[in-house]
Amino acid sequence: MTEQTAFTETDERITLRRQVAKLAGGYGRDYFTAQARSGGKTTELWLEIGRNGYLGINIPEEYGGGGGGIGDVAAVCEELAAQGCPLLMMVVSPAICGTVINRFGTEEQKRTWLPGIADGTATMAFAITEPDAGTNSHNITTTARREGDGWVLKGQKIYISGVDEASNVLVVARAEDSKTGRLKPCLFVVPTDAAGFEYTPIPMEIVSPEQQFSVFIDDVRLPAGALVGDPGDTDAGLRQLFAGLNPERIMAASFSTGLARFALDKAVAYVKEREVFGVPIGSHQGLAHPLAMSKIEIELARLMTQKAAALYDAGDDAAAGEAANMAKYAAAEAACDAADRAVQAHGGNGITQEYGVAGLLVAARAGRIAPVSREMILNYVGMHSLGLPKSY
Ligand SMILES: Cc1cc2nc3c(=O)[nH]c(=O)nc-3n(C[C@H](O)[C@H](O)[C@H](O)COP(=O)(O)OP(=O)(O)OC[C@H]3O[C@@H](n4cnc5c(N)ncnc54)[C@H](O)[C@@H]3O)c2cc1C
Repeated sequence: MTEQTAFTETDERITLRRQVAKLAGGYGRDYFTAQARSGGKTTELWLEIGRNGYLGINIPEEYGGGGGGIGDVAAVCEELAAQGCPLLMMVVSPAICGTVINRFGTEEQKRTWLPGIADGTATMAFAITEPDAGTNSHNITTTARREGDGWVLKGQKIYISGVDEASNVLVVARAEDSKTGRLKPCLFVVPTDAAGFEYTPIPMEIVSPEQQFSVFIDDVRLPAGALVGDPGDTDAGLRQLFAGLNPERIMAASFSTGLARFALDKAVAYVKEREVFGVPIGSHQGLAHPLAMSKIEIELARLMTQKAAALYDAGDDAAAGEAANMAKYAAAEAACDAADRAVQAHGGNGITQEYGVAGLLVAARAGRIAPVSREMILNYVGMHSLGLPKSY
């Protein structure tokens, strides 16, 4: 057993990574792309990681989880992606929704929703983005009005991942505060089969079985218990949203570093084999250096991701915020560059479906846009790390 330092992971985490890599390797990229191209899903893989306790490893044991931290579930997300199976719903269901419900849900809400999130049998999607509000989520117009003891939701969401695979969606709406009369954000758990809840897939260029959806919420009636947390707490919704941000960014970073590792591994294997001037093309620095740069960029992004996760798991939300934003930025950049370099290293083969490299470009590129764009991270760092004036 090696001694742990600030820069190494525990033996337990390393074993977790190895086990997840082995499980995901049994499925691999061919399975993932075959499902994507045939309109299939990754349900078997999802349920298997659930059965093995990896999906809900960050959820407390009393609610069916593994009692670990965000660093554990981020490691699972990264290893899946590194085996060619990047699962966006890992970011959404256990990390964003699982965190919000665990931190703010009532006892009954935790008992109702967390076990299914943990074992993958009741996946939860997350819906904040709206067509007209976009990045500016203060401008969302989905509203919740009280009706008797319950609520009626109305509005529209866009780019919501995995609604077809989810049992529920954690929907961000605005409701009138009963004390102040002002509109405040509130989070509701909406069953995907609720009357008035409709969704249609958005054709995307990403090669993935996980799809994005436009969601139409047309007078969806919900019981009082659908509102997450204490209804009397005026700014609960805002705190819930903020609580989801660090897990979201740490997981998105892990998704990207895993994808980047997968692209780099493919490129390295290829340039070691392919010969056109009598030596493997990897002997040429024109190919070796960009791949070495990717190796450095990926390791730097992984280190920052682990730092963010360690700070978050230690309860330091504020310090985790800066690190999580930086990690997410660095990881998305590393993934975009690694995917691009992998395509280049493969020459013409890089654009074929057979080699499956070009398909990584859009998936990596999405990491610069979602769940938070690179520009908004630069805005955050400009304001919070550098003390510059707010620019928007
Ligand atoms: C694959 C994928 C999955 C997604 N899954 C989900 C999901 O599950 N749930 C969910 O709610 N949403 C989801 N989204 C939505 C995602 O969070 C948004 O696309 C993202 O927040 C950007 O919003 P937008 O697309 O409306 O872009 P816009 O807000 O229109 O922005 C367009 C561009 O302008 C830039 N910009 C805007 N304002 C500023 C500013 N002040 N300063 C500098 N630049 C600025 C942005 O960075 C961006 O590059 C997903 C998106 C994708 C692509």
